[in-house]
Amino acid sequence: KVVCVTGASGFIASWIVKLLLQRGYTVRATLRDPGNPKKVEHLLKLEGAKERLQIFKADLLEDGSFDSAIDGCDGVFHTASPVSLRVVNDPQAELLDPAVKGTLNVLQSCAKSPSVKRVVLTSSISAVVFTDRPLTPDVVVDETWFSDPDVCSKLERWYSLSKTLAEDAAWKFANKNGIDMVSILPAMVAGPLLQPEVNESVQPILSIINGAPFQNNAFGWVNVKDVAIAHIQAYEIPTATGRYLIVERVVHYSELARILRDLYPTLQIKDKCEDDKPFVPTYQVSKEKAKSLGIEFTPLEVTLKETVESFREKKIVNF
Ligand code: NDP
Repeated sequence: KVVCVTGASGFIASWIVKLLLQRGYTVRATLRDPGNPKKVEHLLKLEGAKERLQIFKADLLEDGSFDSAIDGCDGVFHTASPVSLRVVNDPQAELLDPAVKGTLNVLQSCAKSPSVKRVVLTSSISAVVFTDRPLTPDVVVDETWFSDPDVCSKLERWYSLSKTLAEDAAWKFANKNGIDMVSILPAMVAGPLLQPEVNESVQPILSIINGAPFQNNAFGWVNVKDVAIAHIQAYEIPTATGRYLIVERVVHYSELARILRDLYPTLQIKDKCEDDKPFVPTYQVSKEKAKSLGIEFTPLEVTLKETVESFREKKIVNF
């Protein structure tokens, strides 16, 4: 079968491509800059790539850009979306437009192509947790939650707003146009890097092992391989439906730093928070739907070790 992966050079997408090739699929990989070796070389090296990987150039903000990559595909994995957890100058242009208009652009190409049987959308836990409900250790978040755009805006969480608006627009478009869509909602993703550059969600791990004080925040974490498997299972399992949270567990950064200290006792990892405020509380995330996709979550300890070992292999750190 032929499938398309948008934004194929990215951290999560590279793993989706790798596992799809392993499972025998022909993969059409879209990149906005296929001429950049840093974006494409790691994909061309994957097992099966010579025979079954096809590279397409496509940009989220160019209408019809995805038509030729998607036409004739059985499944589409739409992962491309800007990821920036830091301060941005122009949220509309840098995050909201590519996320929302880009998603609709990809779905429009899917609607035009009768071969497409299912679309798997990479959304995020960011499109789930920002509501007026408090997040505390006794609260269990599940797929019925949908972030409130006003709450994201008030908190100036522009990335979260971009994922919330994009997923909402996607469901409206899919329902109206009879597209069979499933969305995957991962928390912070870590694990081995296939691409050469450090992506946003592993950056906090790199900062902590480099000796920076940890952030006063609590996030869910999940292994990139589990996230990639979830995407593929959501496409392959006919009964898969709706949204799937993919989160191993939520921890405060103090706990993440503790695990890293236990794994690497000789590194100078600080037991120090970047502010003196009370710690932001953790919460729970339901794994029921994820389990129905057959996901067995990799423990955070293993994921963190794999991430750091990957930094070492790629000489991102020198110890
Ligand atoms: P990466 O930054 O590694 O990948 C993002 C991909 O999107 C890249 O291929 C990038 O292309 C592409 N992209 C960004 N802007 C555009 C654009 N204007 N036109 C075309 N392509 C574009 O991030 P991740 O792998 O982490 O993220 C992949 C998806 O997963 C995103 O949708 C993200 O929101 C979602 N996600 C990620 C989480 C995480 O913790 N990492 C958690 C939850 C969801 P280029 O390489 O050319 O910049």
